[in-house]
Amino acid sequence: MEAKHSERSHAKLSASSSARWLACPPSALLNAKVADTASDFAREGTCAHELAEYKVNKLLGHNVRDPTENLDFFDSEMSECTDSYVQYIAEETAKYHQPVVMVEQRLDFSSYVPDGFGTGDCIIVADETLTVIDFKYGKNVLVSAENNSQMMLYALGALELFDILYDITEIKMVIFQPRMENVSEYTISVSDLLEWAEHILKPTAQLAAEGKGEFQVGEHCRFCKVKATCRKRAEYNLMLAQYDFAMPAELEDTEIEAILEKADKLTSWVNDIKDYALSQALAGKQWT
Ligand code: SF4
Repeated sequence: MEAKHSERSHAKLSASSSARWLACPPSALLNAKVADTASDFAREGTCAHELAEYKVNKLLGHNVRDPTENLDFFDSEMSECTDSYVQYIAEETAKYHQPVVMVEQRLDFSSYVPDGFGTGDCIIVADETLTVIDFKYGKNVLVSAENNSQMMLYALGALELFDILYDITEIKMVIFQPRMENVSEYTISVSDLLEWAEHILKPTAQLAAEGKGEFQVGEHCRFCKVKATCRKRAEYNLMLAQYDFAMPAELEDTEIEAILEKADKLTSWVNDIKDYALSQALAGKQWT
């Protein structure tokens, strides 16, 4: 029986965190040491996924039980969003002759990533195309399918399953993010995907699994569990904060513009440190 969404285990080198560990390999082991804390947003997303899974299974004619009454979160928005997701899948499958559709399929990409596995929300195999669809219920960060490493890992896992049975030449990756009115589609050839997997993914995943590689600061830090205490990020932000105040005594407009450019990153870093310090204080830590 398929595990409930909330009970799923997560790989150390998970697909969903791959953008981070591909950019900053040593972050993988550091993050693995920090326990997951499920926020209300995450729990809401889990409920939306359970409802979406049910509706797609129903579309496919499977005999499934409606989970709605047991969901911790449910409202009309969730109902509409999952309806539109099912509608999209119905339209996609209608494009093909006798497509194979898999829902919540466990995908193993451990040929490239040590112990790598994940769950694809919906996989459609038809003719020469493998379509990988990911339902995202978040409404804060717009997610693009273009060169999306999470989707590329799922695609590799799906290829392992279906490549022997089908003559797949291209992968269509889809992010379906209804609360941001975002349906992002991106197609990559199987040969390009495999080249990336062999030459970039595999060696970087090996470094990440061993806690090696270079720390690298970037947008991906936003989703890092050690972002508040990361020394590399602190060094980077303190460097940003340095400014050579040139003569004359008052700043020129261009200098103010340069500072403003850095201000968002600095503010976000300082807020992360404050949040961390507060959570530690609430847990009994006394800052002096
Ligand atoms: S905060 Fe950024 S630089 Fe530091 S470990 Fe995390 S991802 Fe790497």
